[in-house]
Amino acid sequence: MNLTLDPGLLEQVVDYTRSVLPLEGCGLLAGRALTAARFFPITNRLASRTEYDMEPSELIAGLRHIRSSGESLLAIVHSHPRGPAVPSPRDVEQALYPEAAHVIVSFALSETPEVRGFRIMDGNVVEIELRVIV
Ligand SMILES: [Zn+2]
Repeated sequence: MNLTLDPGLLEQVVDYTRSVLPLEGCGLLAGRALTAARFFPITNRLASRTEYDMEPSELIAGLRHIRSSGESLLAIVHSHPRGPAVPSPRDVEQALYPEAAHVIVSFALSETPEVRGFRIMDGNVVEIELRVIV
């Protein structure tokens, strides 16, 4: 259950989450057959540096758009402005959409972000491979 990202998509995710620093940013990755083709940035309504909650109206609009395009929700994306690229206890506790992967962008180390993917099911965290098509 790895996840592949179409060309340019990782850059979109990194650019967006960097643009909302120092706050956590979040969004959705959608596509077909475990290949993500589209990124939907979603406003973090908590405007927090340490947690996120997707603005419900944007989340619903995004999910509706994904469904009407015949695509699937493949991953929930969020950033950790200062923390490592691993799910926090809160991320594990509040993981929605068990069918979707979780992609975390960490800006903790430097200007070079670290991006990692996980599956979170029933409180268990398993790292997955993110393949980036260049
Ligand atoms: Zn988190």
